Amino acid sequence: MSAPALDPWTRESLIARASDPKRERWLEQVRRTGACRHPIRLRGVVRRGDEVVYSTADEPDRALMVRCGNRREACCPSCAHEYRGDMWQLVYAGLAGGRKGVPESVAGHPQVFATLTAPSFGPVHTIRDDGRPCRCGRRHDDGDPELGSAIDPTSYDYEGAVLWNWHAPALWNRFVIELGRVLAADAGLSEREWRQLVRVAYAKVAEFQARGLVHSHIAVRLDGAEDRAMPPGVPVSPGELCDAIREAAAGVRLDGDAGDGETVELRFGEQLDTRVLAGDDDSGELSAGKVAGYVAKYSCKSSHEQITSRDAEPDSWRDKGVPEHLIEMAAAALRLSERAGLRRIARWVHMLGFRGHFVTKSRGYSTTLGELRAARAAYRAEQNEPADEPEDDSIPVVAVWEYVGSGYLNPGDVLLAAGVEASLRAGREALLDLRRGPPADEPPW
Ligand SMILES: [Zn+2]
Ligand SMILES: [Zn+2]
Repeated sequence: MSAPALDPWTRESLIARASDPKRERWLEQVRRTGACRHPIRLRGVVRRGDEVVYSTADEPDRALMVRCGNRREACCPSCAHEYRGDMWQLVYAGLAGGRKGVPESVAGHPQVFATLTAPSFGPVHTIRDDGRPCRCGRRHDDGDPELGSAIDPTSYDYEGAVLWNWHAPALWNRFVIELGRVLAADAGLSEREWRQLVRVAYAKVAEFQARGLVHSHIAVRLDGAEDRAMPPGVPVSPGELCDAIREAAAGVRLDGDAGDGETVELRFGEQLDTRVLAGDDDSGELSAGKVAGYVAKYSCKSSHEQITSRDAEPDSWRDKGVPEHLIEMAAAALRLSERAGLRRIARWVHMLGFRGHFVTKSRGYSTTLGELRAARAAYRAEQNEPADEPEDDSIPVVAVWEYVGSGYLNPGDVLLAAGVEASLRAGREALLDLRRGPPADEPPW
């Protein structure tokens, strides 16, 4: 197979970079961003007192590249990889304890991994667990683009589905309150008494399903009210926690604004999955490493990748191959945004009405993404620039940064960065091979 001919711009920009006296430093920058697909280019100066200790004036293209930080695999594999690793660390620390500042004892607290779903807004094409054909009479393959779309688009409640996404964050908040209520009642205590003994800690990740509705995957843990190192002040078995989650999810209701003075009653779907986590005695159904892996994977996935760009016009979505079902939902979101009280949905059409965070956690569940990033930044700074003289802390260091642009400057640079990405990935895979299989407390990628 012969290599495809390069277009003139690519060829010229490749030659320009090859003859750039700062090409090695440019490649070093690309490596330091992990071969990010759309690095942010910054211009700036760092001063310690009157002394300039760093300036981008000396850098290739007079700019410093930093990661785009996008968590979506399809946008930037490298940044998604890093995000996934951080999520894994965060959730694993919350489940297993004994790392990242989370006390070891939390591993013995009641812990459950649960999935809360949206209700049905009309039959959609699915693969059934019991092996029966889809309601349309056919059997669908795994990658069938029809999966998740309405069997009868004329009767499907697209607006109801968008309203559900719109109110999902409030419904979730209701659920957390309801869970406390159920657990308090189980213990024969008032909610107030119960809250003085127990705190519900959780990490939650939202996942878009093929049908355009948001699911929540949650790791729930019960701690002592005052100190997360202590077990909950009311003994609760993991099985009882599962039952309470089911009861709370089934019972929670929310009257959501449907616009023009109308309300809509919101609830969770009947499909609900709860699984006990293996604690100290390893008796649970799921290991901490596995759950951390699930959450980390969901956090980087998005099944409606093509319509997440805020500025895109719905008309152009069809050309990009966005499934008709999701286009219908977006159209419903636009219709809803014309109703009094729902105008703000217009800003969330690209999210099919979902305005929540993809990843949330309660205070005290684990470490934070910010702490993980700060630790990594400090580690990298140490690796890259060993301080050869002790710094004088009394002189203030001031950095001034200015945004120049994002992405690479030309197709030649894109090609070179892709080469760096491939070599970094090969290095990572070789490392995984070396320690196959990955030890239980390491991310499985
Ligand atoms: Zn990136
Ligand atoms: Zn079907």
